[in-house]
Amino acid sequence: MDITLLAVSKTRPARDVVTAALAGQRDFGENYAQEGADKILALRALAQQGALPENAALIWHFIGPLQSNKTRLVAEQFDWAHSIERLKIAERLSAQRPAQLPPLQVCVQVNVSGEASKSGCPPQEALDLCLAVASLPRLKLRGLMCIPAPAHDFAAQCRPFLQLWQRFMEIKTRCPELDTLSMGMSDDLEAAVQSGGTLVRVGSAIFGQRESGKK
Ligand SMILES: *Cc1c(COP(=O)(O)O)cnc(C)c1O
Repeated sequence: MDITLLAVSKTRPARDVVTAALAGQRDFGENYAQEGADKILALRALAQQGALPENAALIWHFIGPLQSNKTRLVAEQFDWAHSIERLKIAERLSAQRPAQLPPLQVCVQVNVSGEASKSGCPPQEALDLCLAVASLPRLKLRGLMCIPAPAHDFAAQCRPFLQLWQRFMEIKTRCPELDTLSMGMSDDLEAAVQSGGTLVRVGSAIFGQRESGKK
């Protein structure tokens, strides 16, 4: 199966995205809506000035926590949003997605680490949220996403990923269009791929360590 590599360019300047795009990278991930939107516009301008090959259409993924007051930026500028954890946010994204753009591609974020993490919907609510999101007109449900608590040995890294994979297979019986399991970052991407992940989100292993304090 193909694995999509998402290059997480948060905190990196637009020129780093250009460098990666010239090397053939197409999918980029951002955590902060305003920073991401600014970078998307900067990259569009650079592409118009000929800094990128004409066929290098970049695909922008929003992967950070999504607050109500940031949904419009995401709906208007991004191609994907991975961090849907509440129906209200999904409804806003659908309502705000401009008519001339294709539907926003989305993943439902699931909290597979219980107490250790506050983000994501509880696993037992993921099916209902997926069904509701799938019915929104301007969103296209693609899959599930998780950010487990950091773990250092391989087996411990696989455990939450396998849980999410199992949930994914269950939900897929009701939502057959699901094709994306967004899991794995620089430190646990091998475990994620081994556990059925289809998209890994890699920042520091591509661009180097971020400045300390910037998550
Ligand atoms: C920052 C971030 C990543 C990338 O993290 P690295 O450890 O730098 O690979 C992936 N996913 C999310 C949601 C992130 O916030």
